[in-house]
Amino acid sequence: MHLHNTLTGRKDVFTPLDPNRVTMYVCGPTVYSYAHIGNARPAVVFDVLSRVLRARYPRVDYVRNITDIDDKINAAAVKEGVDIRVITDRYAAAYHEDLAALGVARPDFEPRVTEHLPQILDMIGRLVDSGHAYAAEGHVLFHTRGFADYGQLSKRDEQSLMAGARVEVAPYKRHAGDFVLWKPSSEDQPGWDSPWGRGRPGWHIECSAMAEALLGETIDIHGGGHDLIFPHHENENAQSVCAHGGKAFARYWVHNGFLNVNSEKMSKSIGNVLLVRKLLEQAPGEAIRLVLLTAHYRQPLDWTDDVLAEASKKLDRLYGALRDLADVTATPNRPAPAAFVAALEDDLNTPQALAVLFELSRDANKATTPDARAAAKADLLAAGRLLGLLQGDPADWFAHGDAAEGLSPALEAMLAERVAARAARDWAASDRLRDALAAEGILVEDSKDGQRWRRA
Ligand code: AMP
Ligand code: ZN
Repeated sequence: MHLHNTLTGRKDVFTPLDPNRVTMYVCGPTVYSYAHIGNARPAVVFDVLSRVLRARYPRVDYVRNITDIDDKINAAAVKEGVDIRVITDRYAAAYHEDLAALGVARPDFEPRVTEHLPQILDMIGRLVDSGHAYAAEGHVLFHTRGFADYGQLSKRDEQSLMAGARVEVAPYKRHAGDFVLWKPSSEDQPGWDSPWGRGRPGWHIECSAMAEALLGETIDIHGGGHDLIFPHHENENAQSVCAHGGKAFARYWVHNGFLNVNSEKMSKSIGNVLLVRKLLEQAPGEAIRLVLLTAHYRQPLDWTDDVLAEASKKLDRLYGALRDLADVTATPNRPAPAAFVAALEDDLNTPQALAVLFELSRDANKATTPDARAAAKADLLAAGRLLGLLQGDPADWFAHGDAAEGLSPALEAMLAERVAARAARDWAASDRLRDALAAEGILVEDSKDGQRWRRA
């Protein structure tokens, strides 16, 4: 298996430290608002990676944290006049609902920062004791000049590291690039007692401490969106390596590219932020998931107005092949086809894997003998399982179509008109409407339960 490693800048052969226990840590959401479709991208990408790893190794410990201490959370709580817990519980629950709709399995561990204060304080203490961090004015700061490899992950030199630091340098910092491990809280801010006074942890130390607590000092894979490389991952790496006497922190750093909307960065000021829950009103979660897998995870992904309809059509084809195999039982214990697995094991090449999946559906349509049809069904289901697709009942997928989701009002009106025409036994009108709908790519069928439609 190969994975692109941000640390080495190339595709490396993946060999876990312990083949009996692969460890993976992915930075999870800061829970102060609903997840947008960009937030869903790393969740889906690393869900697929965990599936591929689980198929290959006997045990995978996958950690995705919930950041429930953060100044944006504090601001949201102040605005609503509630405890931060109200905010974080609400949006953590919403995150789980949204991801479940996209077929994302729960990670093995989902630590919350508020449940790891002792571990965070312990790690800060070790960094202070070893001279890698210093206390100043109620803060504890990481001494970046004391770590020779600082900048290695993000490939930044001294100058760009400084440019990345805050423009206005706090007076208590020894160097502009030093970052906060602990900061003081005012009376009205959430805070925890510490040897440096009442305060709260910085964002970076939270992940270092939770990764150590659940996975140990050196982990196999660390993931997240590429915006996290600097400063978040650079700083996590510095803290963990220094707290562990120079031992490597993560052996493979894996970063997904960004998702843009109509070629623009999603932003509140442009007003083009697409929330997962809004998209779920337009299309089934499986279609949204498929869109996210159409681009290679390292490439940017452009979300445009037609991606959901295209993904729905593709799923019509795949579920159509499965529906035609409804009368056979899939061959038991048949592994996913080698070409399909090879694509995913080649740095998670999902576009290639999807191309193989469509080939499998064409093969399935051509299969005639009972054995060949049973094998084709097994192949489709096993490949689909690795991508987190096609695990539903084909009838349910097509029932979604009946709900007319994603259809234009004009097409919906034509469907309704045809139902009315048939009720009035106006067969000529019914046929005319069927042809007109077919020209629009909507195929209608009449069953004993009434009119059904699917995309051509
Ligand atoms: P946050 O809650 O902002 O820390 O983000 C959670 C995860 O979503 C991180 O791994 C980010 O890198 C990732 N992320 C945020 N925006 C996007 C985007 N537009 N495209 C892809 N990933 C994103
Ligand atoms: Zn993190």
